[in-house]
Amino acid sequence: MGGIEIKDVRFTYPGQTAPTLCGVDLTVQEGEFLSLIGPSGCGKSTLLRLLAGLERPDSGALLCSGAPVTGPGSDRGVVFQSPALFPWMTALDNVAFAIRKASRTTSKRDARAAAEQSLVRVGLQDQLTALPGQLSGGQQQRVAIARALATGCKTLLLDEPFSALDPKNRFALQELLLSLWEEKHKTVLFVTHDMDEAILLGDRIAFMEPGKIIKRHKVDFPRPRQRETLLISPQCCSLRTELLSLFYKWGEAAEVNP
Ligand code: ADP
Repeated sequence: MGGIEIKDVRFTYPGQTAPTLCGVDLTVQEGEFLSLIGPSGCGKSTLLRLLAGLERPDSGALLCSGAPVTGPGSDRGVVFQSPALFPWMTALDNVAFAIRKASRTTSKRDARAAAEQSLVRVGLQDQLTALPGQLSGGQQQRVAIARALATGCKTLLLDEPFSALDPKNRFALQELLLSLWEEKHKTVLFVTHDMDEAILLGDRIAFMEPGKIIKRHKVDFPRPRQRETLLISPQCCSLRTELLSLFYKWGEAAEVNP
């Protein structure tokens, strides 16, 4: 199948005796948007790093679009909390560099044209030649999203990409991500600790406790979703309360946006 399949994945960090992931099972259907939440330290980022091919599991299987994950690949676009741009390269060069790295046969000229198109799509048409240090945090994260999308990936893996941003930028980028997802039909795994973000964006929410996924919730609200009305609806409040109770079970109050 397309999408993401995670089957009984176990993982232990080098030098550790206890496993960080102890039998994770999770499926994300092709084109589905899945929000992954859970208390700090439960292993969400670790799972994403395994899917990105940055770590190898002790056992179990990870598949993206039907292919086993054996290392990093351009079929998966990854966005972390920190945009991790080369500070000496312009926005355009950062994206063009990633395109050329993913496809060595692409000419410099074509890579720059594709990079420009991708940056325009995320609203950075006036910042093509800006260096990362000349961009705001929100703009840098837009470059990271443009870079992830420009390589033509089928799967997007996002690890708290908006958590360092102020609410205005966060809301704007959530909307941008949703419109890109609707337009480009990507499969998305989105790690967050912000329940409202998880509810607003996701088709489903998977809740992780240390080492494994313990609950999966369907988010039935129709799209397009209006933040202002959705987040105060009784159905949303009841889902939020249910999720909060899982966080409190682990002694952690989840972040709820103002
Ligand atoms: P989450 O994303 O849910 O906050 P992480 O996946 O970052 O959790 O971390 C899960 C656990 O693995 C934590 O206990 C963390 O301290 C540990 N951990 C993360 N990275 C490493 C590492 N490089 N070496 C050893 N332990 C790590």
